[in-house]
Amino acid sequence: MKTLIEKMNKNNVDMQVIQRAGEIIKQGGLVAFPTETVYGLGANALDEEAAKKTYAAKGRPSDNPLIVHIAEYRALEKIAVDIPERTAAIAEHFWPGPLTMIFKKSEAVPYGTTGGLDTVAVRMPSDTIARELILASGGYVSAPSANTSGRPSPTLAEHVAEDLSGRIEMILDSGSVEIGLESTILDMTVEPPMILRPGAITADMLEEVIGMVSIDETILGAESEKAPKAPGMKYRHYAPKAKLTIVEGNIREEVLAIRQMVYAAMNDKKKVGIIATKETIAYYSNGIIKNIGSREDEKSIAKNLYAVLREFDSEGVDEIYSESFAMKGIGNAIMNRLEKAAGHLRVAAADIVRRQKYRRVVFVSQTDTCRGPMAAEIFRQKRLRQEYVVDSRGMVVLFPEPANQKAEAVMRSAGLTLSAHTAMPFSEKEIAEDILVLTMDETQKNKIITEYEGAVSVYTLSEFVEDDTEILDPYGMALNNYGECFEKISMLINKLTDKLNSCAEGEY
Ligand code: AMP
Ligand code: MG
Repeated sequence: MKTLIEKMNKNNVDMQVIQRAGEIIKQGGLVAFPTETVYGLGANALDEEAAKKTYAAKGRPSDNPLIVHIAEYRALEKIAVDIPERTAAIAEHFWPGPLTMIFKKSEAVPYGTTGGLDTVAVRMPSDTIARELILASGGYVSAPSANTSGRPSPTLAEHVAEDLSGRIEMILDSGSVEIGLESTILDMTVEPPMILRPGAITADMLEEVIGMVSIDETILGAESEKAPKAPGMKYRHYAPKAKLTIVEGNIREEVLAIRQMVYAAMNDKKKVGIIATKETIAYYSNGIIKNIGSREDEKSIAKNLYAVLREFDSEGVDEIYSESFAMKGIGNAIMNRLEKAAGHLRVAAADIVRRQKYRRVVFVSQTDTCRGPMAAEIFRQKRLRQEYVVDSRGMVVLFPEPANQKAEAVMRSAGLTLSAHTAMPFSEKEIAEDILVLTMDETQKNKIITEYEGAVSVYTLSEFVEDDTEILDPYGMALNNYGECFEKISMLINKLTDKLNSCAEGEY
């Protein structure tokens, strides 16, 4: 089957295309169309055969019911019975919009559409193209998300084409959707009504209209043994191909923990993706880093989530690490989808952060022109199990000198260079618990400890690696003395590498 792709403009809907699309659905065919939440895969909701085709095209388990989309409130009467009184008030507030309500179904709705249930899920979308299509299709369009079952829901027509091209008759393409997450599902058959799936319409918003609503406890709980009440919520839906881990903590901890885990995964030759935000993106340097939106505007995160997961899929990443987001407003829905995409794999950032004691190593020599820069550069070449920022500093640096020429000659003969180095003075910026300061000799160490408050992570290099080698300053001596100095430093840096690597747990 060839899938026709028709570009559409929301503000100037081409009614001829709509009529053709409506005919396809009336004839029992499938048309994908935009809604404000995600793209839907439309079929005649009152036709058992059309439901079968929908399940086949998506590869969806047939016990997972479809949502029936309507365009007018009065259409509800034909498909639902025992409609509670307060339904009108809810519809008044939230329809058309991203809210699905569940009612007892009427005879008109085939079991194919409801996945064998005696209830029917109904929504009235606000998207103008969706609305016109529903009217042109006879008023009742079943529409699950227009993706292959198990993949992230489509928020662009390109996503639909990726998954369903060749399996459906037509795709109406109006570009990016507005919300990006599936509708809130509210079960109206229980008292109080229960949210089965969180979405853009939140519990607070519903409570303002009808008082108390309850929430299906399985929505966020990884631990719950119970089956979710919306059959679709039990599947590892919305899932990217890569292993996704959600990292939870305060922002600083999340960034540090993700950096650590990404570094370790890359050491294991994994291709790694990071879900970062506008506020944190600058703090990452390794891996494929994506800005999912702004923490100040959770809606931007909702809108980008599925597209970002799909991009990671097409880039073939093995692992994805995601920051977590505030559980306010649409944040609940975002975290619910992320959790499902992650198969409930969550880690506490603080636990990860605690596993790395030092994040920066600063080598301190007298003038920062020979021993310190050598040590730093040799250390930078090592395979380290954790990530460190590596610097060198001098106790007496009067101006930004380049490295000593003999030091450079010795480094060159070892295939290294200090040509990019400029001497910098030691300062209080180098004092912190997670900065390991390693001096060349005792005098420097003692000076730092007495001069700076809180200087707890300060050792001589030899002392730290439990060796008694002295690293004499070769200044003014012959080239071979510089060579000997290089050898000693190299040996101590090997020990340092082993020590830091054996302290690093490396397992996350
Ligand atoms: P989708 O159309 O892909 O957003 O999926 C529809 C969601 O609505 C799935 O999670 C279904 O399990 C849920 N759903 C549809 N009809 C019912 C129903 N009658 N009772 C409970 N959940 C439903
Ligand atoms: Mg879906």
